[in-house]
Amino acid sequence: MITLRLNHQQNQFLRTVVERDEHLGDLGDLVRAALREATAPSPMPAAPSVVPETRTAVEEHILEPGTGKAFEVAAGRVVRITQVEGHQCVDLNVFSLHDARERLHVGRTRGMQGLHPGPGDVLWSNAPWERPIMAIIGGTATTDTQFPFCSRLIYSAFFGLHDRTNCQEIQNEAQREYGLDPWDLHESLNLFMHTAPGPDGEPVIRRNVARPGDHIELVALIDVLAVPNVCGDDLSNCSNFGLRPVRVTVEEGVPADGEQARTAYNRAVVLGLPPAREFPGARPLRRDPAYVAAFPHLPLRPADVPIDADEALIRHFHQVKNLDLYGDDDAAALRDIVLSWAIERLGAFAGND
Ligand SMILES: [Zn+2]
Repeated sequence: MITLRLNHQQNQFLRTVVERDEHLGDLGDLVRAALREATAPSPMPAAPSVVPETRTAVEEHILEPGTGKAFEVAAGRVVRITQVEGHQCVDLNVFSLHDARERLHVGRTRGMQGLHPGPGDVLWSNAPWERPIMAIIGGTATTDTQFPFCSRLIYSAFFGLHDRTNCQEIQNEAQREYGLDPWDLHESLNLFMHTAPGPDGEPVIRRNVARPGDHIELVALIDVLAVPNVCGDDLSNCSNFGLRPVRVTVEEGVPADGEQARTAYNRAVVLGLPPAREFPGARPLRRDPAYVAAFPHLPLRPADVPIDADEALIRHFHQVKNLDLYGDDDAAALRDIVLSWAIERLGAFAGND
């Protein structure tokens, strides 16, 4: 006997795969087939060193799975997003606090700073403003600018699921606190997402390499509303088949932060920006005092599913499980094997390694 731990969303997906595959009678068949075909994983990159922080926190919040939150970050302050358990992708939206029409433009950021902005890079806003609005000054996070947020569409089209956690609806609910509408959602900067070119050169999402303590630090260059959310994807290697909490702190900047921000700005702008212009009809953002968060698709309901497996198959599992990534968490290692196999079987989601 072997135990598979799934939340109800993952369970629903695997049932969809079983129903569509004439060779699979039930979930046990799927798990045993996945295990038989599993091979030992390739080693993961070494854990990065983590520098302790020295700033004063003005706000701290744990983002629980399936949620996000809007944070006002005054110019000069730092927003720091930190892994608690590791493995977790975080989507980030950013708006000017004084005019919601100005917001992070991931395409311009990608064009100016490359596919994977990191320390020393800035985040750019959309036209007609087009200026640096935040600077990344530190951290150990991988980032990505190529994959759009996971949405209701993605899970319906590729996984056959119409009602489950997704970044689109999580962001919508978090931004609602400041009166932003569903159509205000913009493309996210993907934090702690690990992407690389696949065999044909197209980008693919690889297993998440974030460890506890990994983090990213961004200084606000103008007053912004920063809205991070725990990515709602528990069906791919984007967050290693799970949803986990992350910590967000807003901190007072120290002089070294300002210097790093200036260096990043000067490096990005080089010969200066075009003269600033005024655009009538600004949409300043204000917190709705009546807001009560109501994130959809919660709670997630985890449950253990016992699966018949003989000694040889269990021995094989212990040979191929990803110790590097999951340590002694056999339930997470088995879930990775089973969901990876199921996704490949369904031919669902291009981009997994
Ligand atoms: Zn997502």
